[in-house]
Amino acid sequence: MPHRRILLKLSGEALLGDAPCGIDPAVLNRIAAEVAEVLAAGTQIALVIGGGNIFRGAGLAGAGMDRVTADQMGMLATVMNALAMQDALERIEVPTRVMSALKINQVCEDYIRRRAVAHLDAGRVAIFAAGIGSPFFTTDSAASLRAIEIGADLLIKATKVDGIYSADPVTHPDAVLYPRLTYDQALRENLKVMDATAIVLCRDNQVPLRVMNIYEPGALVRAAAGEDIGSLVESEPAESEPKE
Ligand code: UDP
Repeated sequence: MPHRRILLKLSGEALLGDAPCGIDPAVLNRIAAEVAEVLAAGTQIALVIGGGNIFRGAGLAGAGMDRVTADQMGMLATVMNALAMQDALERIEVPTRVMSALKINQVCEDYIRRRAVAHLDAGRVAIFAAGIGSPFFTTDSAASLRAIEIGADLLIKATKVDGIYSADPVTHPDAVLYPRLTYDQALRENLKVMDATAIVLCRDNQVPLRVMNIYEPGALVRAAAGEDIGSLVESEPAESEPKE
């Protein structure tokens, strides 16, 4: 396989499907089946799951809650989503470990990098929960950080649209898809790929980032197999010779 080890970032919203909040079991099961397919094809896969379908710290803080408490609730929401994904994977007999950046030992393991890598090498799916364990961060940043730590050769960000567009394709029908772009272009044009911290981490550590539509059946399997779908964010192309 072109990719030995990938990290998939799923937002909480990806699990929503048509449900108003929480998790749509049909969507959860379909994504779990695709993760199983990626693993069966020979690519190690780790997941970082967001919590936006349940709580986002910024939203709660906007309603008056203390921001740190709100972010802690957001991190706990990601643990719930991680447990749901573990359950869906284990129902189809995919060995899985949830590893949390917050200590919740009755529920799941702590995140320990060496152990995470050992799980992946043993053919298990590792699901990283609770972001990085600190407030004022997002699970996008956690995904970049964990991808770097475990030596993933690709970070896949699953979204609701086909890739990165010049503007929001839902509100701007004339927006164009960028098949390839650099980290700096994504930052400069504020393309809302991932938050800036996450993109800078990828840029500074040379982790290629593919953005694709998780609602398109089979897209995850194809992206993991190295197919050029969605948008790829990577380093600057080699500079051409300066003109005299
Ligand atoms: N969060 C946090 N630290 C982290 C990761 C997440 O405080 O390292 C909190 C934050 O409040 C965030 C919430 O958890 O809003 C859910 O994560 P996120 O918004 O990234 O979820 P997604 O948008 O991917 O569903």
